[in-house]
Amino acid sequence: MYLSTGASLVISRLENAGFKAYAVGGCVRDFLMSKTPVDFDITTNALPEKTKALFSDYTTFDAGISHGTVAVMIEGEKFEITTFRSDGKTLDHRHPERVVFTPNLKDDLSRRDFTVNAMAYGEKEGIVDLFEGEKDLKEKVIRCVGVPEKRFEEDALRILRALRFASVLDFEIEENTRRAIFLKAGLLSFVSRERVSEEIKKLLLGKGAGKIISEYSEVFEILFQKGNFEISPKAIPYASTPLSKLAVFFYSFPEYKEQISSLKLSKEERELLSTSITLVKEGIEEDEVFLKRLVAKYSLKTVSLSTCVHTALFDREKRVLSLFEKLLTEDEFVTLKTLKVTGKDLVDLGLPASKEVGEILSLLVDDVILGKIKNDRDKLLEILPEKINNFLKS
Ligand code: ATP
Ligand code: MG
Repeated sequence: MYLSTGASLVISRLENAGFKAYAVGGCVRDFLMSKTPVDFDITTNALPEKTKALFSDYTTFDAGISHGTVAVMIEGEKFEITTFRSDGKTLDHRHPERVVFTPNLKDDLSRRDFTVNAMAYGEKEGIVDLFEGEKDLKEKVIRCVGVPEKRFEEDALRILRALRFASVLDFEIEENTRRAIFLKAGLLSFVSRERVSEEIKKLLLGKGAGKIISEYSEVFEILFQKGNFEISPKAIPYASTPLSKLAVFFYSFPEYKEQISSLKLSKEERELLSTSITLVKEGIEEDEVFLKRLVAKYSLKTVSLSTCVHTALFDREKRVLSLFEKLLTEDEFVTLKTLKVTGKDLVDLGLPASKEVGEILSLLVDDVILGKIKNDRDKLLEILPEKINNFLKS
């Protein structure tokens, strides 16, 4: 297996000090799938304090030390080195009651979630595969290590991880694991909304997202309490950006605003999502003035997202999207910000700085949209006095 220079260094330094050390988890899985691993996690029988001392000439981080993890920075690459652990009983279907270090690699591999994630690689032994992970990789199967019900009872997050990996790797979920997912889905209430968001985001980006969401719609209904999944799952692959995939997903929830506000997204992302879904529900028209008015009233970002969502759900010929993109490239959108006169111009003409200023500017934006006047500063300044008079009279 290919190890990065840093990963080699970590493993050989641990081995030279008399410990066992292996690359483990995602990096082994990725390597066996001919993908370049994103990062290398290392598992070792060295206790955390020993590991720390061994890498004292590098920057180390203690954040995960109570779970046995020391992170080491080597030439800009971060390595998480974790002591062999067996987790066993958990308190709240999520967190191990206590972390038990163990001298055996086998125990450590047994605590891992899925067979494809439970392989290690050692410089001497090569791939250590105790649960037929390589076979499952070949057959494209997500299967729990051990008894699925028990594993989901221990940590309900694994239910979402199973769905996420199945989506991202485009794998099937093995029958017993699948049954246990449905059986134990109620435990998802023990998973923090933050972790739910993270997993859902990754899941929606996966190639198999649409399929997984259709097949496991019951799980998502439990997770978000309500929902009718008639159209959206099939539409997810047609949404081009992460946020539009999320929007398509939430489109089918009657209480999408509440659901979205419970997710740990940025305020901007949450507002974008909610508004875009509302706009799509109200109907997006294939019409220049309609789109321009929408951009003027909301924002380019909001309308851009709305057209993506509309396309995925209702417009596979991309008629609205093409029109939107054409207007965008031709720089046809005008908003209060891009209008060539500002509030200051109105105030300079004697209008008191009040809400009327905004209203007159909005009327001007609409005049430009309707083609009554060009977005040209001189032309706009010319008609300003008359516009103000008319407005004040009405
Ligand atoms: P990714 O490419 O998404 O990072 P990964 O396999 O590296 O995939 P991580 O979440 O980084 O996933 O976890 C690293 C490893 O730790 C996993 O491969 C798995 O062996 C183990 N693991 C992580 N979370 C759990 C869990 N909740 N239960 C059991 N094992 C877990
Ligand atoms: Mg990882």
